[in-house]
Order: sequence, then structure tokens, then C-alpha cells
Amino acid sequence: MTDQCLFCGIVAGTVPSVKVAEDETTYAFMDINPGSDGHLLVVPKRHSKDLMEIPADDLAAVTLAAQRIAKAAVPALGADGVNLLNCCGADAWQTVFHFHLHVIPRYVDKSRDRLGLPWVPTPGDAEAIAATGAKVVAALG
Ligand code: 5GP
Ligand code: ZN
Repeated sequence: MTDQCLFCGIVAGTVPSVKVAEDETTYAFMDINPGSDGHLLVVPKRHSKDLMEIPADDLAAVTLAAQRIAKAAVPALGADGVNLLNCCGADAWQTVFHFHLHVIPRYVDKSRDRLGLPWVPTPGDAEAIAATGAKVVAALG
């Protein structure tokens, strides 16, 4: 728990939230700026800043909770699919620095769904893709 963290406040109950699920390790609640009907967030109760920092056991617990909630929410809300999203770092759109997974039900009916792809998928340069892949392989050791 950190005093300045909004999501630590939500977990502690000092900041109000619409809770959808809770277990020993995780807390799930509705997003106040929903990108679609049913957009919610799953967080570890123990504070971690982001994907780089979160311990493996908390990451596993949050991911499994997100899957459990998605499996219930998609049919219950009549969704046609679901996105799990994590943003790590301000340049990757992270705005709250307590790790969270977005669970975003998706709909053919766009009156329930305001999301779109943020880039136009176009083929990359094959050599550049291979060279970048090699850098990642080298970094993995
Ligand atoms: P990020 O941009 O860090 O990936 O996601 C942060 C999310 O937290 C955003 O989708 C934003 O709408 C949500 N959010 C920000 N403040 C609050 C709040 O006070 N309550 C709830 N329930 N969600 C919040
Ligand atoms: Zn926190």
C-alpha cells in the first residue's frame, strides 16, 4: 500500500469503486471511463508499479482472475469477444501506476463499444523484423 496510489485506495476502500470480484490477492472493479460496456480493471492488492515490477505470483493471480471474470462477463453481457490490455509506462498509455489488467468486452454493436485499433496494420520490412527479433533473442540470453 502506498499513500498516494489511487488503486491502493480503492483496494483499501478509502476510494469508492464498483467492485465485481475479490480474492486474497486480487481486486476487480469497473473502470470509470469505460471503453465499452463492462470495461473493468483487475489489480493485485499488493502494490506494484507496473509489469516490470510485479512479482510472478501476483501477475499469475491477476491474469487468472481476469480470465475467470472474462469467462463470466462475456456471455452475461452478450459480448462478442474480449480484450485483455496492460499498459506499462507513460509512453505506452499507462496513467495509473499500480499494475492493472483491463478486461474490455467487445461488441459488434458499436453503440456498446468505443474502441478501435490505434494503428493501421501494414506489412513490415522482413529484414528489419528478423533483426529486431534477433535482438530480443540475444537479450533473453
Ligand atoms: P491505464 O491508462 O493506466 O492503463 O488505465 C487506468 C484506468 O484507470 C483508466 O482506464 C481510467 O479510466 C481508470 N481510472 C482512473 N481513475 C479511476 C478511478 O478513480 N476509479 C476507477 N474505477 N477507474 C479509474
Ligand atoms: Zn497502489
